[in-house]
Parts: sequence; structure tokens; C-alpha cells
Amino acid sequence: MDTNFSSLLRAWFADRGRDLPWRITDERGLRDPYRTWISEIMLQQTRVEAVLPYFEDFLQQFNGPEALAAASEQQVLKAWAGLGYYRRARLLHAAASSLVKDFASEFPASAKELRILPGIGAYTSAAIASLAFGERIPVVDGNVKRVVARFMALERGADDPKLERAAREQGNRWMSELPDGNLAAAGELNEALMELGATLCTPRNPRCGECPVAESCAALKQGKVLELPLPKKVKKWVDLEMVFLVQRVGARVLLKARQDGWSPGLYEPPSLILKDQPPESAATRLQHDFQLPTKIVPKDCGVVRHTITHHRIRAHVFLAPSGPTVHREDCLDPESVPLTGLARKVLDSAFP
Ligand code: SF4
Repeated sequence: MDTNFSSLLRAWFADRGRDLPWRITDERGLRDPYRTWISEIMLQQTRVEAVLPYFEDFLQQFNGPEALAAASEQQVLKAWAGLGYYRRARLLHAAASSLVKDFASEFPASAKELRILPGIGAYTSAAIASLAFGERIPVVDGNVKRVVARFMALERGADDPKLERAAREQGNRWMSELPDGNLAAAGELNEALMELGATLCTPRNPRCGECPVAESCAALKQGKVLELPLPKKVKKWVDLEMVFLVQRVGARVLLKARQDGWSPGLYEPPSLILKDQPPESAATRLQHDFQLPTKIVPKDCGVVRHTITHHRIRAHVFLAPSGPTVHREDCLDPESVPLTGLARKVLDSAFP
């Protein structure tokens, strides 16, 4: 039996890899590039369990680059609503248009060309090129970096660019061990490395006893598994106190598309960032700014908490029942437009 790192890892993956809907391969062992692309974008900063309910639905709605390019941005954002990091959906839509217009709806087969498309960077291009076209190019994500830091006992922080470079160089060495003429091998090796990091070589409680490459793991030999990679620098949070005013008109709600900050283009009820004023007076100010009946005192529905990017938000929610004069175009059915994650929590709090 071949006992080099990549053979051991690929054999383990063939035996133990999780059965996931985007892992279907053809008779050559290659994947469909469109499915691979959608899954890789969905999986960015998102857990497998969170992606599973969205993946097939999204593919049913948009079954290829043409269908995705032909949809409106609103339709794409709506299908994405709940997955978060909505910039990904916008870039997906833009990349589908570019694929149709500039590449006659055919995916380019190399990582270099794939990077021309919006939203496809070093990681995603390497994943698509290796998994769908067999290019021998390593993927480097957080899981791979952790495996490499431990396997080689590198005293580097998880966010240290030198660890990223070392993982890429080591990945290229492992790629060079692959058997000639096997088109599926590069994708298998990449997927196996990521799977090892996701299932055995985990940040806490790694299961080294089950690891296929434990015999040559330097961190295991040196008793440093739990120390590596070194911790990231601490994130600097910005705390925000906000007020949301939920103005109801029958089954509709006053909703505005966000213009800037987080999730531009997605909808939320009117809001203000609190400076020094009490939440009640900010709610009244919102009524005034949005020309709502100020005589109706909104009901205090409590506080919801939300984090997005580096913001930690405490949002005070006020519900203003329908007023006699409120009939406006911006009163929308919340089910018909893409909402931010925070807006969903706000509406759940206003309409428990
Ligand atoms: S032996 Fe443990 S630390 Fe080393 S690669 Fe395997 S799971 Fe990771």
C-alpha cells in the first residue's frame, strides 16, 4: 500500500468522507462546476448544516448560470435570505451574468481564469478548478491551515499570512505526490484535507487516534496539538444601541432597503442608532421622520441582540399599530422582499 500523505488521506476520505449533496461526481470522479461553485460560495463562513436546507432549493430555482443571470437581484437575494453575508449572493449574480456574457455560459477550466469572475478569489477558484476540472492546485482555508500548522508543528497564528503561505507551499508538495493521469486526485486531496480539518483535526477535542496521518504528525509527536495554530488576535467589537420602529398596515410593514453599512439592498424597518437619547424619544423621532401619525404611542416590544461583521447590536423594538392615514408604497409584505437577519429578529419580536 502507498503510504505517502496524499494517498493515506485520499483513501481515508474515500472511506470516511461525509455524504453531502454537492459531492456527486461523474465517471471521471469530477464534479459539476456550477454545483461546486454554488456550494463553495454558500459554505464561506457558514456551517454545512446551515447550507444544507438552501442548496437544493437554490439549484431548483436557478438550475444553471443562464437561469441565475436571468433572475433579478431581488429574486437571488430572496433565495439567499437567511444565509447571511449577502454580498456573496450579489457577487454570485454578477458572476453568472459575466459567465453568460463573456464565457458563453461555460465555466473556464483553470483557477487563473476563474478568478476573473466577480466574487471568485484564490480559495474558490482553486476549489472549482481542482474539484470540477482536475487542476493540481491546493485550496487553503481555515481547516487546511489548522491541519498544516499541526502536521508541521508551525508556531504561527491562525490569521498569520506566513501560515497561509506555508499551507500553500505544503499543498503544492502534496499535489506533486499524486499519481499521474488521475484527473480526480487533486480534488480528492483538497476535499480530504478540508474534511480532516472539519471532522478530526478540529480546533477543540481533535481525534488524533482516528487520524490517517497521525504517525507523521509533528504536533502530535511534540505534544503541541492543542496549542497550534496559535490564537488569532482578538477582534475589536463595536457596540451599537439601535431603535427600530415597526409600522404595521394590515399584513404589511413599513420597510426600507438599506443603502450602506451591512447588507445594502436588504430590507429593514426604519431604525436609528442611539446616541444619548432614550429609546422612546428615538421611536417618536422615527415616526416624525417617516411622516407617521405621531399621536399613536408605539408599544415597547423589548430588546433583540444581533452581531454582524464586527458590530454587536442591541436593538430596542417599538410597534406602531396601523394609523388611519398610513397608506404608502413602502409598506410591503415582509415575505415578498429579502430581509436582513436583524430585521427578521425585530419582526419576530414585534409579532411574537
Ligand atoms: S494527528 Fe491530530 S493534530 Fe495531527 S493532523 Fe491528525 S488530527 Fe491533526
